[in-house]
Amino acid sequence: MSAEIIYGRELAEDIRERMTKEVADLRELGVVPGLAVVIVGNDPASLSYVRGKDKASKKVGLESNLIELPEEVSQEELLDLVDRLNHDSNVHGILVQLPLPDHINEDEVIEAISPSKDVDGFHPVSIGRMMAGKETFLPCTPLGILTMFKEKEISLEGKHVVVLGRSRIVGKPIGQMLLNENATVTYCHSRTKNLKDFTQNADILIVAVGKPGFISGDDIKDGAVVIDVGVNRIEDGSLTGDVDFESALEKASYITPVPRGVGPMTITMLLHNTIQAAKQLNQIPQRSS
Ligand code: NAP
Repeated sequence: MSAEIIYGRELAEDIRERMTKEVADLRELGVVPGLAVVIVGNDPASLSYVRGKDKASKKVGLESNLIELPEEVSQEELLDLVDRLNHDSNVHGILVQLPLPDHINEDEVIEAISPSKDVDGFHPVSIGRMMAGKETFLPCTPLGILTMFKEKEISLEGKHVVVLGRSRIVGKPIGQMLLNENATVTYCHSRTKNLKDFTQNADILIVAVGKPGFISGDDIKDGAVVIDVGVNRIEDGSLTGDVDFESALEKASYITPVPRGVGPMTITMLLHNTIQAAKQLNQIPQRSS
């Protein structure tokens, strides 16, 4: 058996095409969805991420404002900026790229963002609403994974989902979101004992650990759906996931590659959330994009 490969990049392109039309319709109504992306310092990986977000936003017709601040910016200056963006009616989504330098209190910055503009879905209000199963901004990487399942019509109800990793941005929220979809969810992490006992019993295995080749074909059950969230740069400079793709391909029913898998969906969901924010703030009825 060889799995169907879910190319997130292709799905993302289709979704962005639909979004471009939706943004054009909104512009005709006088609503120009605006995203402000804030980056502190000049970490090359973070700069490359935010420039990618900025470029993708502009391509679908959003107004994107990339604000680059020096490493030495103070907590107060950053909070002032967030406050100004909260009150700027042309800005519907605010994203502060993480991690922030050590002298900045990250939680305080995230909590300063208005929940109505929290397009990253990291504000405690957004997290609380997600836990309660209420409509809210969902964090982009898990929302990208959920959208993949929906686009591929992979059923979730009653499925045993095993999530490897319990980070705030991937592991915890994807588990909660799939629980909300009536899956049965098990979380595993670095203290989990006998990891294989869990992974080999997963109908759907989501791997977000950050270790190249951490999971191989032997670790999964026949016909499992395998979602590889990991992005690891290896010695030859190329990117690879947390799953040994070749061996898992033989056992899985669906599998995502790295690159071109989950990554492109993440940015697309940021655009989705920004469009939803613009509609909410302008009281335009929602439709799926
Ligand atoms: P993280 O915050 O470093 O969390 C890693 C998780 O893996 C932790 O929960 C950790 O457990 C667990 N873990 C580590 N070693 C383990 C082991 N031996 N057995 C079982 N669990 C283990 O990472 P993250 O931010 O979630 O990111 C995970 C990966 O996804 C990274 O490669 C990252 O680059 C990638 N990522 C990709 C996207 C995308 O858009 N494609 C977005 C975000 C992240 P403990 O909690 O016990 O320490």
